[in-house]
Amino acid sequence: MADYERYLIGSEHPQRIVALAREIFTLRKMLWLNHGHKGMYGDDGEMQCSECMHELGFWDWKRTPIEEIESKIAKANLKKLANKSLKNDA
Ligand SMILES: [Zn+2]
Repeated sequence: MADYERYLIGSEHPQRIVALAREIFTLRKMLWLNHGHKGMYGDDGEMQCSECMHELGFWDWKRTPIEEIESKIAKANLKKLANKSLKNDA
């Protein structure tokens, strides 16, 4: 059983689906609030970030598929490492 499949245990019950949706929303919110940028805004109930829009090409932490967020964060971190390495070499 894959790790993520454990979350599906009991998912035939609607209450479990609602609990999973709440958990996913809470985890997205925690990730959005702690992703290292200062451009977050959520005044209209959204979870957006102006720095992500500029640097990563997305700004919606509420609706963007999590695989896309994961991929863009990985690319941004690689870019940061490359820039840091170039500065150290100079
Ligand atoms: Zn951001």
